[in-house]
Amino acid sequence: MYLLFGTKKILLIDSGATVSLTSFPIRQHVETIINRWCINKKKKREDLKLVVAHTHNHLDHIAGDGQFQGQLFTTVVGTTVENVSYFFKLSKWPYSIGTFALDNQRQVAIIPIPGHENASIAFYDCTTGLLFTGDSLLPGRLYIANFSANVDSIQRLLYFIESNHLNVNAILGAHIEMTQIDKVDYPIGATYQPKERLLNLSLDHLHQLNNELQEQWKAGFDQRHKAYYDAFIVDPNPSQLPPYPSNGRMAEHGFILLPLSTLDLVWISHKPMFRTPHDFQLVLMAKVTHPNVNSLSLPTNTNVLQNQWTILPDLWSLNNLLNGNMTTFSAQLFIGNFEQGGQYLCNITLEIVWPPLTIVQLNASEIEPYQPLRYSSYLLSNMIVNNQTEIHLYLLHQIRVQPDFDTIAHATIDPFNCTTDIEREKLVDLLTKNGNEWAFPGLNNELLNRLTVSSGVVRAQLLNDIYSTVCSMSIIEEIQCTLGPDFYDNCHVTSHSVCNSSSLLTILFFWLCFQKEL
Ligand SMILES: [Zn+2]
Ligand SMILES: [Zn+2]
Repeated sequence: MYLLFGTKKILLIDSGATVSLTSFPIRQHVETIINRWCINKKKKREDLKLVVAHTHNHLDHIAGDGQFQGQLFTTVVGTTVENVSYFFKLSKWPYSIGTFALDNQRQVAIIPIPGHENASIAFYDCTTGLLFTGDSLLPGRLYIANFSANVDSIQRLLYFIESNHLNVNAILGAHIEMTQIDKVDYPIGATYQPKERLLNLSLDHLHQLNNELQEQWKAGFDQRHKAYYDAFIVDPNPSQLPPYPSNGRMAEHGFILLPLSTLDLVWISHKPMFRTPHDFQLVLMAKVTHPNVNSLSLPTNTNVLQNQWTILPDLWSLNNLLNGNMTTFSAQLFIGNFEQGGQYLCNITLEIVWPPLTIVQLNASEIEPYQPLRYSSYLLSNMIVNNQTEIHLYLLHQIRVQPDFDTIAHATIDPFNCTTDIEREKLVDLLTKNGNEWAFPGLNNELLNRLTVSSGVVRAQLLNDIYSTVCSMSIIEEIQCTLGPDFYDNCHVTSHSVCNSSSLLTILFFWLCFQKEL
């Protein structure tokens, strides 16, 4: 966030990624700075107007708006293209250039740059020569939601600077995601960045970005790709990239298969490797279409599973699945890991529920690990037990730097044991969202620290959450764990004490698979 002072107006660029007045009192902080400035300049607060504007309409840039709305001497600019055009008098979005005067001397130019987001704008401060580019140019990943718009926007921004012979002392973006090592970034959602790159970029970087975009544009859609520069990474959204080559990554792609409380749906997680054709962490929901779901005795009581199921499909192309060109496949179903002496049960046919819940490509040359421990979560069931909500989740360890480990745990959350700024009625919806990412503060991302029943109750921080949600999670069991980079070998899952193999429960939970003779 940036705060620019004039003698009539003060401009706050972005309002932060956190809603809460208590954990993140952004307005109070800004007003303290303004009051101090007023004392220094012998000004009265009521003679100054605070304007809160945004580099673009993403939640992590506007979440603090509520603290400013309706406050004295304060205007909050809306976040849509219409709101921004109206406020800055941009008659022909995105071609008009606006001016915003902080006083008679200090003018800020407003340059529309849609691409990262529809309502993206850049601010150029004529007095200091600072160019504020939001998420469109920063030392990190430049996500592009609309590639063609972004190509034009960056070219227009550069043309605006050069044709007006403007001096750019620094380009200031809204995040730092690069390390001090060229081309190496921290993972998305990182909460610990001990060796960040400098924030300042220069006009050279704007030239680099423009050249890259122009080249990719001329090369055509089929050649479009992620591009690594020392200080930033051009990272078009998957929807803006060409599909994977058809029939590529042809192999027998094994998956872990786990039951869900939703009738006839199952959760499947691809068995990854750091090399092609298996270089993806991929999680999907699927529907069992054959045999009839009733003849597969799915464990209806999912309080403790105690087992894993795996599937070994026929040969097919993972690329075709990723491209959305494969809707159904058949596979052999095993109880236990088919690579580790699992027991064959029967053949099943699965229909993929589109879109996938998680698609992460693994990169063998990645060196910057997730830190601390991180898992993605998927809803297993949501029950009321003794008047208490009990949310059961599958947790999948996020793989990034080899050798790493592929593990799935089963955890429960009682929403009552969370601290959050979201209204209580909406908390369950937030916690049960598939693909939520959680960090476990205080637990280094190491095999020894992985979540097992002996972890007991752990503190989990929901990432990318403007409501600062932190929950206590109880780890009920570890369902599977294998070691990378090939993920064949077991991590020696220690058997837990909930119940032993001889107990009746095990028989109850055992998922029998009857072959129907039709
Ligand atoms: Zn953004
Ligand atoms: Zn595979």
